[in-house]
Amino acid sequence: MIKSVCGYCGVGCGIEFDTSKLIGDISYPTNEGLLCAKGASELHTIETSSRLLRPQIKQDGKFNTIDWDTSIKYISSKIKKSEPERVVFYLSGQLLTEDYYIANKLAKGFINTNNVDTNSRTCMASAVVAHKKAFGVDYVPVRMRDIKKANLLILVGSNAAEAHVVFFNKIKKELKRGLKLVVIDPRVTPTTKAAHLHLQINVGSDIDFFNLVCQRLITDEKIDSNYIEKYTNNFETYKNKLSREAKTKMLKRTGLSKEQFEEFITMFYENENIISAWTMGLNQSVQGVDKNLSLINMHLITGKINKEGNGPFSLTGQPNAMGGREVGGLATTLAVHLDFEAESIKKVEEFWKTSGIKNKRGLTSCEIVDEALKGNVEVLIISHTDPIYHLPNRAKVEKAFRNIPLIVEINAYENSETSEFSHIRLPASPWGEKDGTQTNMDRTITKQKKVTRTSIDCKPDWEVFKLIAWELGFKKSFDYSTVEDIFNEFKEMTKISKKRHLDMHNMKGETFIWGEKLFKDNKFLTQNEKANLHFVKNENLSEKTSKEFPFILLTGRTRDQWHSGTKTALLDNLKKFKALEYVEIHPNDAKNLEIEDGDMVDVTSVRGEITLEAKITPDVKEKTVFIPVSVRKINYLTLDLVDKESFEPDYNHSAVRVKSI
Ligand code: SF4
Repeated sequence: MIKSVCGYCGVGCGIEFDTSKLIGDISYPTNEGLLCAKGASELHTIETSSRLLRPQIKQDGKFNTIDWDTSIKYISSKIKKSEPERVVFYLSGQLLTEDYYIANKLAKGFINTNNVDTNSRTCMASAVVAHKKAFGVDYVPVRMRDIKKANLLILVGSNAAEAHVVFFNKIKKELKRGLKLVVIDPRVTPTTKAAHLHLQINVGSDIDFFNLVCQRLITDEKIDSNYIEKYTNNFETYKNKLSREAKTKMLKRTGLSKEQFEEFITMFYENENIISAWTMGLNQSVQGVDKNLSLINMHLITGKINKEGNGPFSLTGQPNAMGGREVGGLATTLAVHLDFEAESIKKVEEFWKTSGIKNKRGLTSCEIVDEALKGNVEVLIISHTDPIYHLPNRAKVEKAFRNIPLIVEINAYENSETSEFSHIRLPASPWGEKDGTQTNMDRTITKQKKVTRTSIDCKPDWEVFKLIAWELGFKKSFDYSTVEDIFNEFKEMTKISKKRHLDMHNMKGETFIWGEKLFKDNKFLTQNEKANLHFVKNENLSEKTSKEFPFILLTGRTRDQWHSGTKTALLDNLKKFKALEYVEIHPNDAKNLEIEDGDMVDVTSVRGEITLEAKITPDVKEKTVFIPVSVRKINYLTLDLVDKESFEPDYNHSAVRVKSI
């Protein structure tokens, strides 16, 4: 019997593998034996026809097989010839922590480029920055088990029933116990259907909503003055600025009625323990950080944080987005929660026994595209992700990628959208064929284990990075034999980060929760150990609709598909659940446009056009449309505007038109 963990989403369900059967692990706290359809069929993803099994090089527009030695020598020679800052690593929340650690060490510590970003930039970066601004550290102060102690759960911009299936099953169990559920989402989803109250706010009005709530809490004296006094900074400034915001205008922008708002307030007052959980509806926005802060403020002024059953809970989409944050695999972090100030650089250089680490952040996802367009990216190494599919404004990304002399794609599957632009493809071991650790959304670190033998010519990503490091002449610093060697070094490194206050170096056994006592006695990791309240307001910065593009495009996950579907789109049992390529349109809009259910329609933005099947449903509001992110061409439509602090794209607010064809 092998115990491991699912490699899809941030819930991180425990699994057991016996001979040829994969089942949920009853003893594992996250899922207690449950698995969703994706997790239950993960074994089949190892055997799909889309596996990449040999290194390949593109010659005359076709991929031909080469050997590992030649590939590594070729890539390393190009890195050597390039200026360090023209080398870019683009990683993934589906990598294991050891993969992340070694890529980060190689790039920042030895090649001396801080251009190490990740697809987690496009889903989690706003939460990371908000945590740092409010708490002084990127830390999630809630665990899944807290749901059992909560009286009210507020889900914001989250369709957990489809994106975090097993977590939502746990929520449903708690609803039977008496938990109340409010869902704030512009769309009707399976999640909103389970709620006691669904607030179908207007797209982009989240800050207005939370500011209204906080204004009201202050007016009604429902705040925790003792907590504010002892454990927070800036309350008076925050309160004064907030009081100047016009109530009626904010309510109008949310699109809610007074009655709906009052119903929410009543539920808030009637329930003692409150958790607010959110995902992309808040994060993927030009004001993603501010949206996060507006929600965190609500918990800080009521003292509903750092006690069981309470707190702001950022849900991560990918299985190891959290692990990537831990090691510092972001262009905006150096390593182990340290930034680029001189003292931290010195510590990291001493630990890695290296020199030359640059003292400024690297390029973030969309900046990589901008710099490539200017001809400033020489080598792009992509690991376990599909940027041509997932980055916004795809036509621009394609143009930029055509401008990069060497794109190396390390991937377990050959059917990515990026492969058309790659010059070399290296076959990575997929989930099930490799060992390592991952950290789920409630900070549980778990060992992912091989459940089958490694395909003969595939290698785990960390080994690919190691081979490049050796070829570049850094063998002594990358002399790892096993994945445990890397993890042990990472654990040791966590000691140099005082921000982290980790006892990870004491980690033993199969699972471990990091930071259990991080905010003990409400001591945050800011200078004076108090949390910061930040006044924020809706700046209305997203793309505006117009006569030509009158709809706002919303995007989101569906239950059984995963990202571009390199793994899930080929499995029959997952395909059957929902048609893969569709756009949801409100019946009144469809009527005006003379579109019938099932018609093929063109969806167009100023950036591009795609053709989809129309699905007519009142689940979307009038003047909005919804397209699942599993539609591979979706990002021809989306806008590459980013949050100015987190650099996370505004995926949920692009102006489009819809036309019958
Ligand atoms: Fe895997 Fe997430 Fe499904 Fe659990 S909920 S089985 S972690 S995809």
